[in-house]
Amino acid sequence: MNEFWERIKALLRPREIVKDIRAIDFGKLKARGIRALILDIDDTLIPKDVNDVVPAVFEWVVSRKEEGFKLCLTSNSRHPLRVKYIGETLGIPSIFMGFKPLPFSFWKSLEILGAKPEETAMIGDQLFMDTLGANILNIYSIFIDHRKEEEFLARKWMRQAEQWVLSRLRRAS
Ligand SMILES: [Mg+2]
Repeated sequence: MNEFWERIKALLRPREIVKDIRAIDFGKLKARGIRALILDIDDTLIPKDVNDVVPAVFEWVVSRKEEGFKLCLTSNSRHPLRVKYIGETLGIPSIFMGFKPLPFSFWKSLEILGAKPEETAMIGDQLFMDTLGANILNIYSIFIDHRKEEEFLARKWMRQAEQWVLSRLRRAS
């Protein structure tokens, strides 16, 4: 029985815990042989209730591409247009209604990325979906823990973009 719980605990334990996507050391990931990234969307890249990609997220994605990482958006979202729009804006293939932690969307992502599980990291904010699903397939799991943040980074970026637009609008009127 103890062994069973140990196994469950191991499956739920992220390989890395970070506060936001900016805190991830991609040089270290590369040194581990990781060259592909599966990205959750909601509350990982952008807030769940937002449909726009702010410049900071776009820049983050461009940097990863320049570093040579292949990327795939894998979301449990049931809104295909939202997922497609974000994927196309960022120039990344996307999967919606992924039913994480089931392995199907992870398998599909690996196929799209042309990568093996051991060459891939999954970045997401849901322990029971992103982390568990990745760990089951031996994909390197990075957990975004923004619970303690009063406002987490993706939301802060959104607010900054809003302020930027508002200041432009004010100036124009
Ligand atoms: Mg999420």
